[in-house]
Amino acid sequence: MTKEPFEFLKSIEETPSPSGFEQPVQRIVRRRMKKYADHIQTDVHGNVIASLNSKGKPRVMLAGHCDQIGLMIKYIDDDGYLFVVPIGGLDPTVLPGTRVTIHTQNGPLEGVIGRRPVHLLKPEERGAKVEMRELWVDIGIRGRKEVEKKVALADPITFRLGLERFGDNMITSPGLDNKIGVFVVMEALRMAKARRLQCALFSVSTVQEEIGLRGATTACFGIEPQVGIAVDVTHATDYPDIDKRSFGSVKMGGGPCIAVGANINPTVADLLISTAKAKKIPYQIEAEPRGTGTDANAMQISRSGVAAGLVSVPNRYMHTQVEMVSLTDLENTARLLCETVARITPKTDFIPS
Ligand SMILES: [Zn+2]
Repeated sequence: MTKEPFEFLKSIEETPSPSGFEQPVQRIVRRRMKKYADHIQTDVHGNVIASLNSKGKPRVMLAGHCDQIGLMIKYIDDDGYLFVVPIGGLDPTVLPGTRVTIHTQNGPLEGVIGRRPVHLLKPEERGAKVEMRELWVDIGIRGRKEVEKKVALADPITFRLGLERFGDNMITSPGLDNKIGVFVVMEALRMAKARRLQCALFSVSTVQEEIGLRGATTACFGIEPQVGIAVDVTHATDYPDIDKRSFGSVKMGGGPCIAVGANINPTVADLLISTAKAKKIPYQIEAEPRGTGTDANAMQISRSGVAAGLVSVPNRYMHTQVEMVSLTDLENTARLLCETVARITPKTDFIPS
């Protein structure tokens, strides 16, 4: 990956964006995409829409959600410990012993998530399920009064951010889900700028996916596309302790996963697959029998229906501090989307027959 795209990826990964608090990342997206898009707009919900050839036909929306999971301060006790509730789907099991950052009005503040150590757990507590209310955030300051000078109720919290490159062209960072989706849809637009597109392209950094596909719902209604392709992460299954009989085979480095099933328009799936074959881009098929938990779901049933597609990047350890993806997969996913969009013309028929 060349320097400029990598720097963009690193900067969005290292900027907090829990659902409802995405604008710091959206500012970076706007600043970078000004160079490549014909037009950039932020809607009232906070979605950032970068467009190219907006008079073209049909209208194609690419959606990558920029929000990440996190925590929110719900209650501060007399000793100054912070009690938190999740933003999005968080497994409390992964939380004890974690370094976190509280994003306050006056800037970031470090904290740790505490729990009684193993020595002090009762036998029946060892190995038992961890409940969110049994955990607290410790910012190293004593007493509610002093703590309230630093933080406020509803301040968002993320895992301590930071992107590392390691291993076989891999990266690890919290919040790869799904800032890599924003990266891919914006890279696809950057690459498509050099092409003579017949369609109109709208690459959208959507908000609030983790709490119910909310940003894609409003952005899609506003843009009124005929085609909507979501880019998200999917579970890699190439590690121990996962049953491929239930979850299929998804390999890191094996290329983008193209979803097929009820949430997906057949023409969109065919276009993605035939483009991957023609351009020799490795790909994997993901069988999705029902509505997916992605922006593709919201887009498909927007207004009177949108031809939906879903392309996913294999991800290990989703919704933890150490999410992993392959940079090679990211580049291949952006290429696949650019090449696919370049093949869409006003004559492409998306009506199932
Ligand atoms: Zn997620």
